[in-house]
Amino acid sequence: MENKPGRMSCYYIDSTNPILIEVGPSNSFPYLISSLESLGINEVKRSAMTHLHLDHIGGIGHLVEKYKEHFVYIHELGLKHLPNPEKLWKAVSEVYTEEWLSTNWGEIKPTPINNLRSLKDKELIDLGNGRKLEAIYGPGHAKHHYTFYDEYSKTLFMGDTLGLIYPHGNFVQPNLPPPDFNKEVLFNTLDELYTLDLKYVALAHFGIHKNPYQLIINAKENIELWIDFVTKLPNLSINEATESLKIWLSENYRILGVDEDTINNYINNGNFKMQIQGIKKYLHID
Ligand SMILES: [Zn+2]
Repeated sequence: MENKPGRMSCYYIDSTNPILIEVGPSNSFPYLISSLESLGINEVKRSAMTHLHLDHIGGIGHLVEKYKEHFVYIHELGLKHLPNPEKLWKAVSEVYTEEWLSTNWGEIKPTPINNLRSLKDKELIDLGNGRKLEAIYGPGHAKHHYTFYDEYSKTLFMGDTLGLIYPHGNFVQPNLPPPDFNKEVLFNTLDELYTLDLKYVALAHFGIHKNPYQLIINAKENIELWIDFVTKLPNLSINEATESLKIWLSENYRILGVDEDTINNYINNGNFKMQIQGIKKYLHID
């Protein structure tokens, strides 16, 4: 994603009835196809999207164009927006700007309604040989968010529900965008997911991690710390608040013993302005 490695994970469950999870942004679509082809996969019949943010679904129009008869499982709002994505594009542009979006993620092509299937909470998607993928509705990061649980491998495909973990995997950086972030709703979702029998969590940003319960606890702790930080900020402009958050985080990461390269990776690749906006909206102080 954004021509950088280690930023966006898409997953392919290679069961007898396979499925792709996430497509990634429009500009990353060639990377997805070359990855699939490097695994000998030349046809993908179906996919499931965690939520409607453009870094997850931006390439969806390319996907249904490339693979004839391909269909996509998605929250029902997807059926409303994806055939005519202009409104979605406009809403996202207000957070990222149109120029940034076009350059980094790329424009979104319309997806015909016939290629879309809406999900229901606890719906079981057949993976073949009795294996099932459970779609679990989980708002908090976004109101249109599903996670996908594969009981066979005890893997939970998290989307953005947990937060961000760039490679190293020891702690979670919250991902709390406006307009939907809501702490209580997100914690309810995380508490429900905590009750599953888990071996792995598979994140969108980034990779598969082996310590699911520890990471869920860590995500909740860090969300509390970030909200507390923003609550106590003096009356700063959005840019000043963003800089304060970055400085505070860098210091915290150093205290945790994180190396400078990893700190720079986090600080340069997080959209901290958006995080401040998301928290302030949740706190009704925007
Ligand atoms: Zn998201």
